[in-house]
Amino acid sequence: MTTDPLLDTALPAGHKAGFVAVIGRPNVGKSTLLNALLKQKIAIVSPRPQTTRLNQLGIITEPDHQIIFVDTPGLMHKAAHKLDETMLARALEALNDADLVVWLVDASTPPGEDDIAISEIVGRSSSPVVLAMNKNDLVAIDEVLPRTTAYRDLLTPETPWLFFSAERKQGLPELYALILEHLPEGPRFYPEDQVTETYVRDIAAEMVREQVLLQLRDEIPHGTAVVITQFRENEIPLHIEATIYVEKPNHKQIVIGAGGQQLKSIGRAARQEIEKLLEQRIYLALWVKVAPKWRQNEAQLKSFGYGQDE
Ligand code: GDP
Ligand code: MG
Repeated sequence: MTTDPLLDTALPAGHKAGFVAVIGRPNVGKSTLLNALLKQKIAIVSPRPQTTRLNQLGIITEPDHQIIFVDTPGLMHKAAHKLDETMLARALEALNDADLVVWLVDASTPPGEDDIAISEIVGRSSSPVVLAMNKNDLVAIDEVLPRTTAYRDLLTPETPWLFFSAERKQGLPELYALILEHLPEGPRFYPEDQVTETYVRDIAAEMVREQVLLQLRDEIPHGTAVVITQFRENEIPLHIEATIYVEKPNHKQIVIGAGGQQLKSIGRAARQEIEKLLEQRIYLALWVKVAPKWRQNEAQLKSFGYGQDE
């Protein structure tokens, strides 16, 4: 028996704990997979790419193991995009820090440029890799062999792989077993009831951003960022203020809406989501600012949480 330093209770012999980096280009189903595994709304499923911006995606704690899923945002953007330059090195570092890398691909399409680029980084990682080929429900029977082979050929032949569906929850126990197999033995990193407390701020920002996307899907291209400006944990209700950054003045008008109705609706829905997740009442105030071409501006990226040390 080992002792859990966080809880001061005995852990079963052979207790495992570790970090699992889930990587893959946008829209491959990372959030769907994590939601299915975590059974709680932490990562966010969206019909638009690039909505997952959390570094720590969630924690599963069971009597005999703890899995911490982490994200490598640097791998989520197209190679040509400016974000990659500042984040590629970080991504490889994150992969090397992980106990296991789960590379998620969308098997409904053949490997593309981005997949090849990611496979090169994954191949350089010193951590074990699992190739998780998602969306098997969209692959015709006679395509299965050539498709899985095309992806497997991007990695060394001994790389373990799975062909599964996150959405239909097919092959998830097998994927989970494979993840567990690679976790090292050791005590927990976090207390049992902590899902993502350290990252509640990020989650709150993500919930606001999700509502902007959901409610204004057709009006606003996905150049939106949300920054938490106030987070006062000692107040009841928990006091959160956030600024929604948009690229253009007319987007600001759209987000605010006539008489501020749109912003109110975004705030109300986001507050309910955050309250559901945190199981406590919160106060949420939202502001809207214009930050043209924020993606291109590195200083601003930093203030949005990219490129900072964790
Ligand atoms: P992310 O950008 O990698 O986080 O991808 P999401 O989890 O947001 O998923 C992108 C889209 O793929 C969503 O519309 C999901 O419903 C869909 N999707 C995810 N997994 C599957 C699957 O196994 N089968 C099918 N048909 N669609 C899926
Ligand atoms: Mg996502």
